[in-house]
Amino acid sequence: MNAPVPAPSFAPGEHCGSALRTPRIIILGAGMSGLLTGIRLRRAGIENFTIYEKATEVGGTWRENRYPGLACDVPAHYYTYSFEPNPDWQHRFARGPEIQNYLRRVADKYDLRRHIIFGEEGVDAHFDGRRWQLRLRSGREDSAEFLIAACGFLHHPREPEIPGLDSFAGARFHSARWDDSVDLHGKRIGMIGTGSTGAQITCSVSRLPCQLKVFQRTAQWVFPLPDREYPLVERELVTEFPGLARFAYRVYDELFDALFSRAMIRPGIQRRLVEAACHWNLRRVRDPELRRRLTPDYQPMCKRIIMSWEYYEAMQRSTVELVTDGIERIVPEGVVTQDGRTHPLDVLILATGFKTHEYVRPMELTNAQGQTLSAAWEARGPHAYCSLAIPGFPNFFLLGGPHSPLANGSVILYTEALVDYVTQCIALYRRGEFDTLAPTRAATDAFCEGLRRNMAGTVWVTGCQNWYIGKDGLPEVWPRRPREFNALLARPRLEDFELSRTPQAA
Ligand code: NAP
Repeated sequence: MNAPVPAPSFAPGEHCGSALRTPRIIILGAGMSGLLTGIRLRRAGIENFTIYEKATEVGGTWRENRYPGLACDVPAHYYTYSFEPNPDWQHRFARGPEIQNYLRRVADKYDLRRHIIFGEEGVDAHFDGRRWQLRLRSGREDSAEFLIAACGFLHHPREPEIPGLDSFAGARFHSARWDDSVDLHGKRIGMIGTGSTGAQITCSVSRLPCQLKVFQRTAQWVFPLPDREYPLVERELVTEFPGLARFAYRVYDELFDALFSRAMIRPGIQRRLVEAACHWNLRRVRDPELRRRLTPDYQPMCKRIIMSWEYYEAMQRSTVELVTDGIERIVPEGVVTQDGRTHPLDVLILATGFKTHEYVRPMELTNAQGQTLSAAWEARGPHAYCSLAIPGFPNFFLLGGPHSPLANGSVILYTEALVDYVTQCIALYRRGEFDTLAPTRAATDAFCEGLRRNMAGTVWVTGCQNWYIGKDGLPEVWPRRPREFNALLARPRLEDFELSRTPQAA
């Protein structure tokens, strides 16, 4: 059990057992998951919450990223809140600004803006045994019974450690910090990185009158999922009959579950089908030498697969050159590769991914015993009960934490299950079932042990480097179907938690 805690704060007139308590809740981040949390809290009749957002608008990753070609490679009618279909999607794979507009509209429709304080970033928070005490960058302080981190995990750009990077004399920026002031027309552009981001940038920039050198360290598998624009008549039809969007959602949900989810977690026909599609796609590269250099030496999906009909077409455009010699150093005029060649460049784009194991950090959390989250994760790396709760850190929830069903699929789908789980916990608090709740170490270890056991058949352990891999050498990913993750979260198992409850005066 936790140390005895002081009584919780009740709103005037409330008493545990006779009325629902009204906890205060702080949410960090107004991206897809933070907005969803606000919607669910309001639906539950809870208005005493604040969303702190470091930027000046909602949207999270869809606000931060502005690179050319930005799109979501999960079909738009599936990358949607299940309760909020969007007849306005203009493409099968929604473009970044479309998604950003969707999230803005959702914030307005659900009247969330009055709960959001923009331009405020959490610096640290400590649990005083009863409430989370939060300090923000401006010096503002706040406190609440519950703290929910909805900050995502793809928001700390990772710059490559390449000698001489800072010496580059041209324009240089990370894909997530796109410099709109740089005109790419007529420029010699170099891009390091061929992940999902690099592939989308390649497809877009290769159509411009410029020269693009793609520096590839590891080849990627590309699944040929064709994009298409939805004509006006189709969009009008979906507006008239919203059931069509819901139907599309269900079809994609079945498709992703039947094909990609199963292919990722165990060998079998689904994996062979995805592999066959990737091999077929690769054969669309006509030049055998270029095809050889684009051929990965690991199984499809071990790294997050690229979904693109256009990528290989782009790589064969006359504006694009693939460079596979390792990068030795960067000099003021460009990139020097290990074959001794200097590649002169005007612009250097770093599509080198994110620090994916930070989660809520660098904001530091400290529990009532004085232990920080960084210290709690020091030995084993990030780990959490059901991806969202951490032993010793009561009344704190992480959305999209370690062991979430990442990879290829809709993040929104499982985030809805996470948020419903959190709101169920808060409902129990309101009924006076507990004052503080944190998962037990035993339940968390059992959960993590189950993950390890299930990891064996997954594609992520078949031999490749991917950003899912954690400190223990195993991927920090849910190793079963996302549906099973959602089923696990259907209701909180209170026996897996340490609950503290202040005895009420007779
Ligand atoms: P990423 O998948 O981590 O890819 C980073 C790329 O940079 C890799 O090709 C990596 O090569 C390369 N790289 C890193 N350091 C390097 C170095 N020192 N020298 C040479 N190459 C280096 O990053 P990302 O493409 O930004 O994607 C990150 C995640 O964002 C995705 O997995 C996905 O979850 C999300 N995303 C989603 C979408 C979408 O449409 N839904 C679109 C974009 C991004 P290695 O492979 O050799 O490490």
